[in-house]
Amino acid sequence: MKLSLRGIMSGTGREGKQMACALRECPNTLLMRIVTQGNTGIHVDQDWYCSVGCFAEAAFNRFTAISTARLVEMPHSPRLTIGLAMLTKGYLTEEQLRFATAQSRVRGEQLETVLVQLGLANEWQLTAARAAQWGVPVLGKDRIAQPVESDIPVTLLRAYSAAPLHYSAAAKRLVLGFVYRVEHCLLDSLEAITGCRAEPCFITPTEFAEQMARLTAIPDHKEMIFEDSLTPAKMANNLAGAAVEVSAREARFACSRNMVWIRMAGKRRKVDVLFRGKIESALETTEKSLLLEDRIGSWG
Ligand SMILES: [Zn+2]
Repeated sequence: MKLSLRGIMSGTGREGKQMACALRECPNTLLMRIVTQGNTGIHVDQDWYCSVGCFAEAAFNRFTAISTARLVEMPHSPRLTIGLAMLTKGYLTEEQLRFATAQSRVRGEQLETVLVQLGLANEWQLTAARAAQWGVPVLGKDRIAQPVESDIPVTLLRAYSAAPLHYSAAAKRLVLGFVYRVEHCLLDSLEAITGCRAEPCFITPTEFAEQMARLTAIPDHKEMIFEDSLTPAKMANNLAGAAVEVSAREARFACSRNMVWIRMAGKRRKVDVLFRGKIESALETTEKSLLLEDRIGSWG
């Protein structure tokens, strides 16, 4: 007799109601249910997966979809150039700007670099001009010198030259100071992962270095960074390994053109898994099964 898998594989949700495994192809049989019934599964938003195997399979599907989708994410660029922003703010005269622009061409260096070399601008003026370009505020010095407890991977903060200046999980608010440009993909990912509203502002390179030194890590929080390009199967396999390690009960995904970030929480520990390389085209289904099958049953 063929039994309905959805009817069989049901667990108890956080509100105490019965939940079915969200993986359509959930392979668990009645026998497997007896084996796994002690587990509470993994929640991903509104979905619930009965086992790490089903969770990894769903993640594989998600990564495959990203690898095949022709994502066109136009990078935001400000309309106002840095030179015009400096001019508008009265930090430069037209003559100084013309001279610096010409020098920038001759030297093959960025205008901002040349302005500093020529002594025509300091880092604070450039920061204020960038803030004007992007239409976001510059945070006053008095509001920056606060130590912040942060669970944001330092690798990400350094890659995007952004430092958390205020972070309150209770108030669901995060203020992020950028040095060069507002990175919307980071802001969107942070909102998806932390559930906090992420507000951008600008800080100087010196303030960035000082603030990074003030950050303290949240205990029992681990980062796993994968910089190489990987196939969806290998990504899912690495994710499953991390899920087993922390006995994951809950996971959040943030996927964009530039990165895939998954935060998983177990009872006592959390892990951030970051994939920053290109996603290679998907492998054959058989290879995927081989990669995933040893995870199933080794999780508890
Ligand atoms: Zn399942």
